[in-house]
Amino acid sequence: MTSSPSHPAPRLGRALVWFRRDLRAHDHAALYHALKAARQVWCVFVFDRDILDPLPRTDRRVAFIRESLVELDAALRELGLRHGQAGAGLIVRHARAQDAVPRLAAELGVEAVFANHDYEPQAVQRDAHVRGALSNAGIALYTSKDQVVFEGDEIRTGSGRPLGIFTPYKNAWLKKLDGFYVQAYPVARYAEHLAPRPTAHARDVPGLHEIGFEDTQSATLKIHGGTLQARALLADFIERIDAYDRARDFPAVKGPSYLSAHLRFGTLSVRELAKLAWYRLRGGSRGAEVWLSELIWRDFYHQILHHHPHVVGHSFKPAYDAIKWERGKHADALFAAWCAGRTGYPLVDAAMHQLNSSGYMHNRLRMVTASFLVKDLGIDWRWGERYFAEQLMDFDLAANNGGWQWAASSGCDAQPYFRIFNPVTQSEKFDPAGKFIRRYLPALAHLPDKTLHAPWLASEAALAEAGVVLGRDYPAPIVRHDEARKLTLERYAVVKSEALPR
Ligand code: FAD
Repeated sequence: MTSSPSHPAPRLGRALVWFRRDLRAHDHAALYHALKAARQVWCVFVFDRDILDPLPRTDRRVAFIRESLVELDAALRELGLRHGQAGAGLIVRHARAQDAVPRLAAELGVEAVFANHDYEPQAVQRDAHVRGALSNAGIALYTSKDQVVFEGDEIRTGSGRPLGIFTPYKNAWLKKLDGFYVQAYPVARYAEHLAPRPTAHARDVPGLHEIGFEDTQSATLKIHGGTLQARALLADFIERIDAYDRARDFPAVKGPSYLSAHLRFGTLSVRELAKLAWYRLRGGSRGAEVWLSELIWRDFYHQILHHHPHVVGHSFKPAYDAIKWERGKHADALFAAWCAGRTGYPLVDAAMHQLNSSGYMHNRLRMVTASFLVKDLGIDWRWGERYFAEQLMDFDLAANNGGWQWAASSGCDAQPYFRIFNPVTQSEKFDPAGKFIRRYLPALAHLPDKTLHAPWLASEAALAEAGVVLGRDYPAPIVRHDEARKLTLERYAVVKSEALPR
């Protein structure tokens, strides 16, 4: 295998690219750097038993990942073929990543492993372990930024401190952005260095059952994995992006991009998306401007996690850890009703049904349901955070933690503790015709719009006409919002003098 005459000779003989949350074969930092640096490059993904073993056997995300890997494998094969390298493709292991990667690296005789940064504390630990094991074998681990536009230390105050408030962060982010940061990595330029997989590794991506998961999910998945799906969603969204600012808050309207799971697993490059929005914003699109802000929130929460890892399990603002949450059987019952979408508040329940049935929840509803759990039911935000982490296709520790701490007011730049969403007014405002509620709560479909948002206020006659018996067809509300609001203000009294983050 030789380097193309137009390129300088690679400095390494053999390298391995370790894919994690970057499941694509284009605009990929680690793949590009490896292909540029080495004459022979292999690619591996490890179904990491440390992550997978504790999951329920029906976890939807594993199906999404598998679909993405099948495409990634095909894309690598095709890329190799186009550049005269038949037999390239993805090596897939099902093992503990921290053991499997050093073992495979040694087996292939590589001098270096290339991967993209992962900022989650467990991943940081895993990578430190792998780095140590590789180094013991004389193999280097090179890692690159890929998942975000700007990472940890790139955006700081004038005096060099990280930013904990979004608006100055966003302004600094936009000021720093130029074409360089959103430029694609031209992977194909060095694709002739993709190496054929050794016979022992030249196998198709294993089926779900081969890694101990049930196959039922792929048939019912609403959000499919792979770059092709991501591209189809993106193409659809580009047609709507200019209206994003006006449409994004209404769950019955196709307003957002629905790209979150693809961003989570890297089937698309965030650079490509940010570039697209940035160009469009410079052309005057308010929708693109607001959408780019969402991508900036994503970077923002990642850098918060990087600088303040205590947010995992603790409030960003330590004073909020003094709050006494509901505990015991009653709290368990309230939590179970919330999880199952049986709170008696239609917008909250419809949202939970959307989550439970699809693995996706609209952003406005994430805010409403999170606020309801914490400020109407008095349940610890960490319980809700965990439930979302189990259910969301796009679960991302940084964004999920950020969203929950925003709703609980314990986060950086969170909403003030005394701002408490009224679930009925939110419903009237953001699902005025009840289209979203009726989709997920067919039992309420025939209630008139006026009472759909608070069925307990409907007259006996209206309920009878709609065929609804409260307590039979749909629950009576499990709390009264006005009473819960008062209790919450008392509960939050301990944080009235908000302490600064540690
Ligand atoms: P769009 O509106 O099209 O936004 C584009 C992209 O920007 C999203 O795909 C996402 O990557 C990013 N983004 C948008 N809003 C945010 C935000 N507030 N914070 C960080 N990134 C954002 N997002 C996740 O990706 N994973 C999570 O686990 C997650 N948990 C959340 C929990 C709560 C309680 C809340 C309030 C929000 C959470 N979010 C999470 C943020 C947001 O709700 C989702 O990113 C968004 O709904 C995904 O839909 P979309 O792709 O259609 O978004």
